[in-house]
Amino acid sequence: MDHKELVELDHQYMMQTYGRFDVDIDHGQGATLYDLAGKEYIDFSSGIGVNSIGYANPKWVEAITGQAMKLGHISNLFYSQPYAKLAQKLCERSGMAAAFFGNSGAEANEGMIKLARKYSFDKYGKGRGTIITLKNSFHGRTITTLNATGQDVFHQYFFPFTEGFRYAQAGSIDSIQEVAGHDVCAVMLELVQGEGGVLPMDPEYVHDLAVLCAERDWLLLVDEVQTGVGRTGTLFAFQQYGIIPDAVSFAKGIAGGLPMGGVLANERCRDVLGPGTHASTFGGNPICAAAAQVVLDTLDEDALAKVTEKGNYIRTRIENMGLSSLGETRGLGMMIGVEVKGEESNKVLAARLIQNGLLVLTAGSALRLLPPLTISMQEIDKGLAIMQETLL
Ligand SMILES: *Cc1c(COP(=O)(O)O)cnc(C)c1O
Repeated sequence: MDHKELVELDHQYMMQTYGRFDVDIDHGQGATLYDLAGKEYIDFSSGIGVNSIGYANPKWVEAITGQAMKLGHISNLFYSQPYAKLAQKLCERSGMAAAFFGNSGAEANEGMIKLARKYSFDKYGKGRGTIITLKNSFHGRTITTLNATGQDVFHQYFFPFTEGFRYAQAGSIDSIQEVAGHDVCAVMLELVQGEGGVLPMDPEYVHDLAVLCAERDWLLLVDEVQTGVGRTGTLFAFQQYGIIPDAVSFAKGIAGGLPMGGVLANERCRDVLGPGTHASTFGGNPICAAAAQVVLDTLDEDALAKVTEKGNYIRTRIENMGLSSLGETRGLGMMIGVEVKGEESNKVLAARLIQNGLLVLTAGSALRLLPPLTISMQEIDKGLAIMQETLL
């Protein structure tokens, strides 16, 4: 099959919910991908922050195939080792107390929202189910997480949405106070807003917010679906902010390319979702859990330190290119936003870079770079050379 035939097949049989780039990807190795015609691409996108340890990582492949030959799925009605060992690794390295596993980011946030509402219901009864989220946030595409997302463009078509969300200005404690009331049970935020444009939160704001949450007995919920699993240079971004959330959601990078998500709860919240209150048929799937263990083992302290180094290197190199179409860079670790200026939009620039062999993402009005965390310096330099040549 060639590219044209594949595109025709897609258009004939797929719901056209995605505006795809006119590129197909067939296989990959490290942070380098190849299309059906054999053309090479350097990957600064990781399948939207998912392929955290690159493509065809031998340990990852071995763990998946080994587990598939042993036990592919069993449900949560029985004990099995892979999810339990994964939960241990996650808790030990994050300081959280207990895990719940699901299959995606939106589903993880749904679990976290349920946890917050149940915590409050158990303690205060009905009428305290409102969750404050931030403007410009992104929390997912389900009917509930669309409404948790603080952007009007996501509040269309699909009425009625799940109620109980109120939006505060990111970075402003005053704004939180303004929308607060006796009906609030939690605040949910991303520490670096991803889809919103790669916008890191100010540490002082996050600290003050944590204090306010503790005073009001609001749960502090951190959506680490994009920032988690080493993306920002620590296993979770909250570990750089000096806070202990009540619950943290994760997904994207956790299983290195297999669908998995989940929630970590601290000591106070570990027992809120008791038997029968929350479940997922596929949650904690043995193959995904085996893959995720390889991801966590690969992202040891040394690899995490390199995430910060490589992220800083990429940002410095881009800023020093002096390109008229690119402005300042921002971000944390290898979650990088590059401001776009000049005539061409970020979408147009991204399409040109992709055609020339560098996969990038957009977010807000910026270019967004989420390379595999294990990308080599040679691949980084190759990617940056494509950027310079394309945008010169
Ligand atoms: C991607 C993302 C989600 C949604 O994850 P899905 O796996 O697509 O459901 C939620 N929150 C944040 C911060 C994300 O980046």
